[in-house]
Amino acid sequence: VSVADIMKKDIVSIQEGISIEETARVMCREGITHLPVVSKSGELAGIITSWDISKAVALKYTSPEHIMTREVITASPDESIESAAKKMQRKNISALPVVDAGRKILGIIGSDEINRLVGGYI
Ligand code: SAM
Repeated sequence: VSVADIMKKDIVSIQEGISIEETARVMCREGITHLPVVSKSGELAGIITSWDISKAVALKYTSPEHIMTREVITASPDESIESAAKKMQRKNISALPVVDAGRKILGIIGSDEINRLVGGYI
């Protein structure tokens, strides 16, 4: 099974520069915890998670720049899910944006998708 077989394709992302409050609103509205951040040219620029929002609240950060992770760990569509799961385990993260060679986002794979596969729902 490859990443492309189980990744979530209807991804929600945000434009770089969007405020922390707006980022949190998108997460609440969409019921998601991981938001890829996209540059003006449409490439993956970073990721903000609900963990980062908690950090912003705790430390009173006001700029998304202070909480966005720029060095995003990604998966490729033809990668095996074992390889993707190992990356998540090793880095203590729970989702990987799936990107093409030009860093355009194709989907996202996380513990939710792997749970659905293991549970027989895919
Ligand atoms: N285990 C939790 C999780 O999966 O979100 C929390 C720990 S994790 C170290 C929290 C940090 O990981 C956040 O700052 C978040 O931006 C970052 N992060 C989440 N997914 C990432 C990814 N695919 N690549 C790089 N950093 C990521």
